[in-house]
Amino acid sequence: MKYLKLAEFYEEASDTTKRLEKIEILSKFLKQLDECDRDVLYLLMGDIYPEYDDRKIGISNQLALKCIAKSTGINEKDVLKEWKNIGDLGRVAEKLVSNKKQSTLGGKGVLTTDKVIDNLRKLPGLVGKGTVGKKISLITELLTSASSIEALYLVRTLIGDLRIGVKESTIRDSISSAFFNSEEGASKKIQDAIDKTNDIAAVFDIAAKKKLSGFNKLKLEVGKPIKVMLAEKALTIEDAFVSVGKPCAVEYKYDGFRMLIHKEGDKVMFFTRNLENVSSQFPEVVDYIKKYVKGKSFILDSEAVGFNKKTKEYKPFQEISQRIRRKYNIEKLRDELPVEINVFDILFYEGKSLLSEPFQKRSVLVRKIVKNHPYKIVTSKQIITSDEKKAEAFYKKALGDNQEGAMFKNLSAGYQPGRRVGHMLKIKPESKDLDLVITGGEYGTGKRSGWLSSFILSCRGKKGEFLEVGKMGTGIKEKSTLDTGEDISFNELTEKLKPYFLKESGRTVKIKPKIVVSVTYQEIQNSPNYNSGFALRFPRFTALRPDRSPDSVSTLEELKKDYDSQKRNWRYG
Ligand code: AMP
Repeated sequence: MKYLKLAEFYEEASDTTKRLEKIEILSKFLKQLDECDRDVLYLLMGDIYPEYDDRKIGISNQLALKCIAKSTGINEKDVLKEWKNIGDLGRVAEKLVSNKKQSTLGGKGVLTTDKVIDNLRKLPGLVGKGTVGKKISLITELLTSASSIEALYLVRTLIGDLRIGVKESTIRDSISSAFFNSEEGASKKIQDAIDKTNDIAAVFDIAAKKKLSGFNKLKLEVGKPIKVMLAEKALTIEDAFVSVGKPCAVEYKYDGFRMLIHKEGDKVMFFTRNLENVSSQFPEVVDYIKKYVKGKSFILDSEAVGFNKKTKEYKPFQEISQRIRRKYNIEKLRDELPVEINVFDILFYEGKSLLSEPFQKRSVLVRKIVKNHPYKIVTSKQIITSDEKKAEAFYKKALGDNQEGAMFKNLSAGYQPGRRVGHMLKIKPESKDLDLVITGGEYGTGKRSGWLSSFILSCRGKKGEFLEVGKMGTGIKEKSTLDTGEDISFNELTEKLKPYFLKESGRTVKIKPKIVVSVTYQEIQNSPNYNSGFALRFPRFTALRPDRSPDSVSTLEELKKDYDSQKRNWRYG
């Protein structure tokens, strides 16, 4: 398929903000798509592989800028100037390619989606010497054949900022309209298929044959991580019981990071909640799984919690966060920052998906197959009760054991990937801490000049948009701490954010929502200064959350709940 056709679709889709219109446009586009163009589905999501695959395009703005310069023959400084003026690198490419095409009368050839995918798929595999040069030539090859509108969307795809407002749910409903006339139940079947496979093109393959029963063929597979089920928040134990029913399971809410454990024969893999493959970072856990969990093939859901080797005291997440990212000195880190795996769910066992089995059944199976070895691998601490007093005592015990709070789980509910569900609720002491994403910053002055010294934090709105909630400047160190992992300095955080800078004007920078941080705060106030309508008082940085995606940061709803609970001046625990 010609890439131009796709670019025209992107343009049409971004021309409307109305969901139904978007669905109509996408549905029309999907109907025209040949089965051999299935990979275009990934491009629609700004990707080149299924979501479960952690090979991503990952091109920084700086590198994209170099490629624009090279392919248009304009020097980098001038491209940078344009970028500062226009503020959108895609539009810069569009303008410069259009100027060039006018003077050279057309590009060299017709760009196809196959060629784009081919070249882009070569990018993530490049490592070592000469990588940058090779990346530049693969991208430049595409840009030199591109028309201005193609250049616009190529660059946006490269830097991961497509801006067409097409989400997974838009694709789901468009598939339903294109191939099943939006018949009743179709959307749900398609969603189930997406949940199980995490592969939108595989779902398209089946949908194009127009038989809903075809989706039954799609299976959950070991090695292909699916999105995790997320919890809603409850303010009181009473509320929690109302949502999940009585009796329910109450579990410790551990303060670590989510770890999906996949095993097939001898192969053991770990994925974070962001679906990042972290298998090589936890060699000791591979041993625990092989020795202490019965079964040939399974997918477990768990929380990895750090503890002090000597005192055996559990540590908060930020003290072990390095273990997720660090790819060197793994043995040393393993000794210094041991983790205990707390298994709380199972999604697949011996070839069979358990997603639609009731939680109680899954939970019993977990306890049957995992042999508890404290400080290595254990099943989550759990009680099953209808008694609020017992639940409260258990919750307090969890807090006393340095954990975050408690989870309340409906015993008969299935596992719903990728959604915050009302049948799994978390309860923590009056929350005062949030996960937020950085969407802007301000350069400092004096000893902090050259670095961002204040960071704009955003939560998520109802439609998935990011809404500002305040500025953070505390909790960050003045000086670089040489990767102790516990602290971060202004310059380190600025460097981490740089690849995502979207626009600089004066001392302020707009930043693409990518870097998630945990923050504490003293109070939430109503405020006209931020588009969320709220402002955090004294937000303080506590940890980088490389294991969390911008899509899963705290929502406006949660902020409202915190605001309301603070108004009632209610404290739990
Ligand atoms: P939050 O990060 O505050 O939205 O809380 C949800 C997270 O709690 C999950 O993503 C898990 O990483 C974590 N968690 C800790 N203990 C449990 C548990 N027993 N059951 C489910 N999730 C848990």
